[in-house]
Amino acid sequence: MSDRTSPPADREPPNPHRSEPASDSAWSELERLFPGIVTRDPGELAAFGLDYTRVYAPNASALALPRTTEDVASILAFCNQRRLPVVPSGGRTGLAGGAVAANGELVLSLTRMRRMDPVDTVGNTVRVQAGAVTAAVHEHCEPHGLTWPVDFSSKGSSQVGGNIATNAGGVKVIRYGLTRQWVLGLQVVLADGRVLELGGALEKNNTGADLRQLFIGSEGTLGVITEATLKLSRRPGKLDVFLFAVNDLADVLRLFREVKQTPYLISAYEFFTLSCLQRLMRHRAVRAPFASPSPFYVLLELEGAPSTEALEPWLTSLFERQLVQDGTLAQHSSDAAALWELREGIGESLSATGLPHKNDIALPIAELESFCAEFEQVFSTRYPGLEICLFGHIGDGNLHINVMKPDAMPKEEFLRQAKDRDLDLFALVRAHRGSISAEHGIGLLKRNYLHFTRSKDEIALLHALKQAFDPHGILNPGKVLL
Ligand SMILES: Cc1cc2nc3c(=O)[nH]c(=O)nc-3n(C[C@H](O)[C@H](O)[C@H](O)COP(=O)(O)OP(=O)(O)OC[C@H]3O[C@@H](n4cnc5c(N)ncnc54)[C@H](O)[C@@H]3O)c2cc1C
Repeated sequence: MSDRTSPPADREPPNPHRSEPASDSAWSELERLFPGIVTRDPGELAAFGLDYTRVYAPNASALALPRTTEDVASILAFCNQRRLPVVPSGGRTGLAGGAVAANGELVLSLTRMRRMDPVDTVGNTVRVQAGAVTAAVHEHCEPHGLTWPVDFSSKGSSQVGGNIATNAGGVKVIRYGLTRQWVLGLQVVLADGRVLELGGALEKNNTGADLRQLFIGSEGTLGVITEATLKLSRRPGKLDVFLFAVNDLADVLRLFREVKQTPYLISAYEFFTLSCLQRLMRHRAVRAPFASPSPFYVLLELEGAPSTEALEPWLTSLFERQLVQDGTLAQHSSDAAALWELREGIGESLSATGLPHKNDIALPIAELESFCAEFEQVFSTRYPGLEICLFGHIGDGNLHINVMKPDAMPKEEFLRQAKDRDLDLFALVRAHRGSISAEHGIGLLKRNYLHFTRSKDEIALLHALKQAFDPHGILNPGKVLL
């Protein structure tokens, strides 16, 4: 491999923003000042100190469960004055360790802040508190024929604040774009307790640099999001869901080119490999979709076809032209849900049936095929015999690469080797002008590798931003930036 440059992955240069460990008396004082809001119950600290990455040991000093923006502002002002480190926390479904408290921090959870205002059906907006659960926002908007089109399988637990702080992607990005596109306004509390109202419900606001966008995707390092005005979309009409069996990645992409020629909107174009399906079938009572197994599967959702029957000639032509080996078109909503389960159950099934080392990378679509060929070549020669489960939002150039721990290999050895493999992977990603994190963020998990995607000058500017917003480095210290 050329260009496999990196500092040793676990060396930690001095962090100018990192807070010092706080004394016990400071935490006791916080608890005393905010009764019923701050707790140091060990069970709560263990639960709230973790996110879905499951690779860090929780070690939080305290947990705050504020009810109002004023509570958040007072807690942050106190922490800033005492230099107490704070981890903003949402539904803790994050996959980058962003919400992990492993270094004696205060977890500031927005869980109690779930208010959802009435839907504005003229402006198609809704203002919610940051702790509103993503799926609850969908349910709140549904009676009005509207939705907030941020959608993925963790939506039953993830929160609006976490979605915005990670600029979440998901299964509908190909149709609607990232979370960023669906946020009109933010209320943010800065590290020193100042409250900013950014944007409100304005669709247009060209008054200089857009500060709101800085908080979207900043993973809780610049401020705590307390409320958001969400932009809503009309709920889609009839959706047609297909599953296809294809031979290889080249055919996944060939089919994608074909699908783009249809007059209908693509609302999802997802793929997964046979190894993902096999693990899903081990974990959940689902049946194989086709009589014979296939190396690759594609889930396609189309919007706008006049009727399901109208799509059948097109489906037949895909077989005739040998673009697909097998395929099915859901006839009922229950069939469609069963096909979606094949894709959406994968993340959970990999963790339930083994230990995956996860990566979430993005590539320009035009680079996908050459990237995958090189990836296969590098991994089969340098790390032979590993089970690799590939799936993801391939229509967005987003691959989830999961290397599974072999049963016979000790966990420590697997994790040690994972660091080496990551360096190879990220060098390849950089060579193909991709990103080391498509949608999960950087958090703790990828902070040593940020330089594979962001230049030295960019990283210096990110440090300058951090200094401007949070000069004492109390917010999510050690996350994203080293
Ligand atoms: C099964 C599964 C499937 C998933 N699928 C997808 C997917 O398809 N696409 C995708 O993008 N992600 C996916 N994720 C990852 C995750 O669900 C998203 O990143 C989600 O947006 C995180 O929301 P959360 O509320 O759980 O945030 P958390 O995990 O609690 O926090 C995430 C980050 O945001 C910060 N944060 C949280 N709340 C706030 C706040 N109010 N103010 C400031 N910072 C805050 C935290 O400090 C942390 O850095 C998946 C996760 C799982 C477990």
